[in-house]
Amino acid sequence: MSFGYTGSILHINLSTKEIEIENPREDFYRTYMGGGAMGLYYILKELPAHTDPLSPANILTFMCAVTTGAAVPGQSRINVNAKSPMTGGIGDSQAGGFFPAELKFSGFDGIVIKGKSPDPVYLWINDGKVEIRDASHLWGKTTKEVDALIKTELNDPKVQVAQIGPAAEKGVLFSSIVNMMSRNNGRTGMGTVMASKNLKAVVVRGTKKVSLANPALLTSLAKQGAHDVSENPDVDGLAKHGTASVVAYQNDAGTFPTRNYTEGQFEEAARLSGETMTETILKRTDTCFACSVRCKRVVEAEKDGYKVDSVFGGPEYETIGTFGSYCGSADLEAVSYANQICNNYGVDTITCGATIAFAMECYEKGMISEKETGGLELKFGNTAAMLEVLNQVVNKSTPLGITLSQGSARAAEIWGAEAKKLLITVKNEEAPAHMPQAKKSLALIYAVNAFGADHQSSEHDWMYEVGGAELYFERLALLGLTNPPEAGDFGPEKVKFASLTHTFYSMLDSLTLCQFVFGPAWTLFGPAETVDLVKGCTGWDVTVEELMKLGERRIDMMRIFNIREGLSRKDDKLPEKFFVPLKGSGPTSGVAVDADKLEKAIDLHYENMGWSREGVPTSEKLEELSLGWCLK
Ligand code: SF4
Repeated sequence: MSFGYTGSILHINLSTKEIEIENPREDFYRTYMGGGAMGLYYILKELPAHTDPLSPANILTFMCAVTTGAAVPGQSRINVNAKSPMTGGIGDSQAGGFFPAELKFSGFDGIVIKGKSPDPVYLWINDGKVEIRDASHLWGKTTKEVDALIKTELNDPKVQVAQIGPAAEKGVLFSSIVNMMSRNNGRTGMGTVMASKNLKAVVVRGTKKVSLANPALLTSLAKQGAHDVSENPDVDGLAKHGTASVVAYQNDAGTFPTRNYTEGQFEEAARLSGETMTETILKRTDTCFACSVRCKRVVEAEKDGYKVDSVFGGPEYETIGTFGSYCGSADLEAVSYANQICNNYGVDTITCGATIAFAMECYEKGMISEKETGGLELKFGNTAAMLEVLNQVVNKSTPLGITLSQGSARAAEIWGAEAKKLLITVKNEEAPAHMPQAKKSLALIYAVNAFGADHQSSEHDWMYEVGGAELYFERLALLGLTNPPEAGDFGPEKVKFASLTHTFYSMLDSLTLCQFVFGPAWTLFGPAETVDLVKGCTGWDVTVEELMKLGERRIDMMRIFNIREGLSRKDDKLPEKFFVPLKGSGPTSGVAVDADKLEKAIDLHYENMGWSREGVPTSEKLEELSLGWCLK
């Protein structure tokens, strides 16, 4: 008997309307376990090289993992993969909520979607039954409208809907897949790929509980988690004030990106903090399936003729950064309203807010004028203009909106060489609100990560520097990190930390685990509990080493995919702007990424990963990871 997984992967061809159910063997599940690794398996095997990402041939995968659906905090997440229209390499994105667990309860570990329907459709997956349904009445409608319409149509308020919004239908390149109207597979344009298939939504409902190998172990983990929330100061802050609890800390440290990443401190940061949100517009907290942390915010406000509706949740730290400090706006209500527009139209808040901030700097520096902005005075701090441009982008309703709807890197192609100097993109993806100028290991991982700058693809420097927390050091020691370097170091030990925690986070994305709950340092659970979770779900006698191999496997699969699509070491680079000293005041004023040190760190990282100097996994490494088939 198998534990932890349903044993069924759903394959849908939207061109032919064929529906097939595959029942992989246990060794397949033990090798890939779920999430990104499992999605990459199908994409690498079945997607022809150099496929246009918005053509019917692209393959879109939704993957849970062997841990999804267990009543333990942090396991209800879904990984979506496809070739990315943003980067031209692999697309990868995670979202939480109740949709992932419900997909598992509906009888499937994952879905592989190919082809393109001639007309808009949605998938209805209900306790093992699968239907491709007409969605022409839903096309053009916002996520709030569609969520309500589908629940009425299926006569069940408990169905979970993962959908695209009107922005994706119109071809906004950084469109997301939204569930619960507030949880996004936001990065790398996975919503745009879904729209290109005429697939409006995936709707799931199920009562099939997954068999678990050791329910007692999982119950004790859940109890420990509930108890430890208030014991760990970082997790307690997350529970009390959401991800925005880090605003004050980031700002004090000079790592709160301000005015398109030109400075590291925002003079009005206090107005954007998690504590301010709690005191002013917070209505209640929210959670994902079985999670005792409850970090999600639900806000409500009314201001300047607009209303912030609680169905769209509340802004995360990244959204507060991109629409707040990046744009020089200290208006928390407006940032919350921007979050609402992004969720209702279905776009990635990071790319969208950062792209508008980039346009603001281009305007301030004279690279564009009111001719390009349609008369808008697009200055930092002009919150009304920011909201206006956001509306133009999600609707592609003006020339400026059309230009920015493709992201900042493509806008810079139009606006010229000087504009390119203001970009904060890696592989065409805008950087999130964690500054690689100050967090050295993050500079490395931003550069080498397969799908561009990502703050959730490795642990951040402060966790492994002299003077850090004892508990975090104990956890990092389980990965072989026992010699914390001095603050600000960027030598071999820091690179080892980057390589190993990059691998650990990659494993989390294969087990589709929340990185606020499971992690190598500051989170609710550490590596030992991650092993216990997999053991409790599957009954497999896994170790930290086996799970680290899983993480490495996913990284190498993404690397092989990108190499096949023409990406190479030359794409493992940071934008010019990160090498220019930061302006403003505070501890990071004058700080920049050191180009020589970064190149040396890339060499070392490749070595740590068993790759050639050009960043290509060796055949020995691929054989070691059971990926010899990738060589064929
Ligand atoms: S910590 Fe927050 S995002 Fe993570 S599973 Fe819990 S509620 Fe969801």
